[in-house]
Amino acid sequence: MVEKLYVTYNDVHKLCQQAATKILDEFKPQLIIAIGGGGYVPARILRSFLKQPGSPNIPIQAIGLSLYESLGGDSQVEEIGTKVTRTQWLDLSALGEMANLVGKRVLIVDEVDDTRTTLEYAVKELEKDVELARQRLGPDAPKAEFSIFVLHNKDKPKKGQLPEDMIKNRYLAAVTCGDEWINYPWEAIDIDEHDRLAAQKKL
Ligand code: 5GP
Repeated sequence: MVEKLYVTYNDVHKLCQQAATKILDEFKPQLIIAIGGGGYVPARILRSFLKQPGSPNIPIQAIGLSLYESLGGDSQVEEIGTKVTRTQWLDLSALGEMANLVGKRVLIVDEVDDTRTTLEYAVKELEKDVELARQRLGPDAPKAEFSIFVLHNKDKPKKGQLPEDMIKNRYLAAVTCGDEWINYPWEAIDIDEHDRLAAQKKL
């Protein structure tokens, strides 16, 4: 049976708090992109801990991605794979949200890095679209730099890949755990029961 982990709102709050120092020191984000829906709450909490006196709050933009099982295109070999679709994306017009990312240090936030399919898609597609916006602004426009924060990284073979230098220098998981199913508080129907189960596990 797959082990289940229960994470409370307080756990999430404290994990964001603990991660904030490193994120401020090393990634210095100017903009946060939250991958919905699991990235929204951590991104919002993190923003409070990233706030510097005298500076405005770091803006948060939301993207939505959804995973689905697909049959491969080759009818001879029907390979089942995992595909990602955009359910919500940034405005791609020249003066829109994508242009705002040009030259910025952008922190991508999600709740869990499981197979890494979602993060690979998000990084690749954001990099591609921001690069297009950058080229529209002119050859001298600076490049964006992406970093990643997740609450949990499951220590398992990954289907998706991230650039090596990103994993080394621009990737932070608050917790590295096994291949367990994590129950987050925002998914709970009965939050008291959820918290009770979380407390029971901590004993
Ligand atoms: P990926 O496999 O692409 O890394 O993760 C895809 C998505 O699956 C995550 O963003 C998350 O919504 C969901 N997911 C994967 N593992 C878990 C888990 O243990 N708990 C919950 N609640 N969602 C998960």
